[in-house]
Amino acid sequence: MSLTDTIIIGAGPYGSSLAAHLKAAGVDHQILGEPMGAWRNLMPPGMLLRSEAFASSLHAPCSGFTVEDYCRLKGLPYRPLGMALPLETFVEYALWFQSNLVGEIQPVDVLALRRVGDEFQLSLTDGRSLTARRVVIALGLKGFAQTPPALRGLPAQYASHSELYGNLEWARDKDIAIVGGGQSALGLSALLNELGARAHVLMRESSVVWHERPQAGRNIMSRLRRPDAGLGRGWRSVFLSEFPGVFHLLDPKRRKQIMEHTYGASGAWWLHDRVVGKVQISHRTEVRSAEIENDRVVLNVLTDGKKARVSADHVIAATGFKTDMRQHAFLSKDLADAISNQAGMPELTSHYETRVRGLYVVGPACAHSFGPVMRFVYGTKHASPTVARHIVGSLKAGARQRAWPVVAHAPMPERSGE
Ligand SMILES: Cc1cc2nc3c(=O)[nH]c(=O)nc-3n(C[C@H](O)[C@H](O)[C@H](O)COP(=O)(O)OP(=O)(O)OC[C@H]3O[C@@H](n4cnc5c(N)ncnc54)[C@H](O)[C@@H]3O)c2cc1C
Repeated sequence: MSLTDTIIIGAGPYGSSLAAHLKAAGVDHQILGEPMGAWRNLMPPGMLLRSEAFASSLHAPCSGFTVEDYCRLKGLPYRPLGMALPLETFVEYALWFQSNLVGEIQPVDVLALRRVGDEFQLSLTDGRSLTARRVVIALGLKGFAQTPPALRGLPAQYASHSELYGNLEWARDKDIAIVGGGQSALGLSALLNELGARAHVLMRESSVVWHERPQAGRNIMSRLRRPDAGLGRGWRSVFLSEFPGVFHLLDPKRRKQIMEHTYGASGAWWLHDRVVGKVQISHRTEVRSAEIENDRVVLNVLTDGKKARVSADHVIAATGFKTDMRQHAFLSKDLADAISNQAGMPELTSHYETRVRGLYVVGPACAHSFGPVMRFVYGTKHASPTVARHIVGSLKAGARQRAWPVVAHAPMPERSGE
């Protein structure tokens, strides 16, 4: 079994961006996973990105590989703000990024990862095994879907989580209840409505929080008062978009507080006219239980404290994600226990390394350490250069140690014949 220095698990934006940085730095590495698998298979065709176009580029080690560069090359329309980038354009852009800057991506999944001595051993779905000195986990939101207890255990034919979409053709002409009040719920409701399904959104909130439409060409005073940043408008967004290293230095309680009170359930500006007046929305509504009756799913809900029943062909839980590394079934128990020390969340050093030396986590799973920017592609601009720099630094330190190992530890040669 040959030894690779670094193996990246996951070929989405985070894994690909890091691979580009490692390749540029000459680090021996491999990258595993279906290229842009989550974006190609689990998101609905026709979806528009929530992030602004200028904030949707994978970070590259050199210039010339942003969404803007891609659109210019392909003659596609581009505006940094207020454009609503189509999913299809973003995926094509990311595949172009990979074909230019990332080495060969092996479209296999990891079945098992364990630590043996100072190395990591990986078993793959194609039957091979690999060994590496370092492993980076870049699996996005995989395994973290949260379903409310009331909807758990319903047969898959009647209930699913928004993480799984995917083509929505199956829902044409059907009654679809969607639980949730954020971008996933609202985005799915618009697409389903336009497809000819009858979508009904059930949300706890008393109104939808809509993002304001970004305005290009604001005057300097307006931009100084509320600058545009990767995650939105305002100085708070600037801090959270640009300074994840400072966020990491905050007290864990403060970090948790910020995570709980920023970027709550909300809808992108471009969804407003596709939802309001077109999709049925029940506010202040909570699902208490569910059952199957006459081939339909019946939800027992409380709306403004009053009991009601909502019947549908299918219910989608658009109820978000919660990081829990223990959900990664491929991690050996000792690795999962060692890194999931805060109710499943990994505690990370300032260079994204877990408590297991040589094991790193990048992307949404490290949002509680580095802030909400890690939930977005924009965060690749922080994670990729930092992790690549640390790996290069470790390699150099290792090479120095190997060059002079005798100085510190070699025993003195025995003198003989005196
Ligand atoms: C509906 C929806 C809309 C979103 N819209 C936006 C948006 O507009 N802008 C934005 O910035 N973010 C958006 N996000 C968040 C987005 O998913 C993340 O920002 C981004 O995809 C994280 O990238 P990643 O590389 O960490 O993971 P992912 O893109 O999820 O990639 C994971 C990779 O891991 C691979 N993989 C999975 N299991 C294994 C395994 N066992 N072994 C090997 N490889 C494996 C997959 O094939 C894939 O290559 C959205 C998320 C959702 C769910």
